[in-house]
Amino acid sequence: MDAATTAGYRSGMAFMCPICKDTNFKDVVVPRGQGYYRTAFFECCGCSAMFHDPAKFTVGRDEKAKRELAERQNKQTQGR
Ligand SMILES: [Zn+2]
Repeated sequence: MDAATTAGYRSGMAFMCPICKDTNFKDVVVPRGQGYYRTAFFECCGCSAMFHDPAKFTVGRDEKAKRELAERQNKQTQGR
């Protein structure tokens, strides 16, 4: 179970929770049947706040990193 909850942990991302200032977040995993199902949402490791887009949820501390994150996601959406 620990492996499932920490599998989505991402380091190196300029994330900071606007609520508790924690810099760690993980995938939200919910029990399903005999196992676990990873949702499309993330959870702050500090205060357990749930969010969908780390780049938008993060506090505007590092504007450059935030912009890079957004650009990366835009490229994925456009498929170029
Ligand atoms: Zn938090």
